[in-house]
Amino acid sequence: MSVRRIRLLGDPVLREVARPVEDVDEEVQALIDDLLDTMYDADGIGLAAPQIGVPLSVFVYDVREPEVAPGALVNPRLVETNGQVKEEEGCLSIPDLREIVPRAERVVVEGLDRDGHEVRLEAEGLLGRCLQHELDHLAGVLFIDRVSPLKRKMLLNKWSKRESDTSAARAM
Ligand code: ZN
Repeated sequence: MSVRRIRLLGDPVLREVARPVEDVDEEVQALIDDLLDTMYDADGIGLAAPQIGVPLSVFVYDVREPEVAPGALVNPRLVETNGQVKEEEGCLSIPDLREIVPRAERVVVEGLDRDGHEVRLEAEGLLGRCLQHELDHLAGVLFIDRVSPLKRKMLLNKWSKRESDTSAARAM
């Protein structure tokens, strides 16, 4: 188990479509443990494998609500959506940027758990939003793709300034 480096916007792995997992074996379970360690270290509520540079269809979540158990999903698929809600959202791969993102109000997601057993999750609220955000990561989609072109341009401007700040500091 270890904390891995979180890949940031601009890293091509974030734009790859994740490959399905063939077997939920020890290697995949180790990946899940690393994802959990990395997510908790970054104080996040969800993390997908491409975010640590592994283009496999796996993510973990823990929305820190007492009535919602944390977990991992392997080869997840969205089987049902209802309604629409708009809430602010952020991403560990695009730190410091947040924006209102439209999402389905309620989702049903099926996949495999850490033991390779079929699970079905019905979710709304923060977990519903988190599951949709992580499913997007597995398709190479980021939350900035789901806002208006104008808002995206503003976010990317902010991001490019942040990057140049960082490199200026390093150049010193
Ligand atoms: Zn994200």
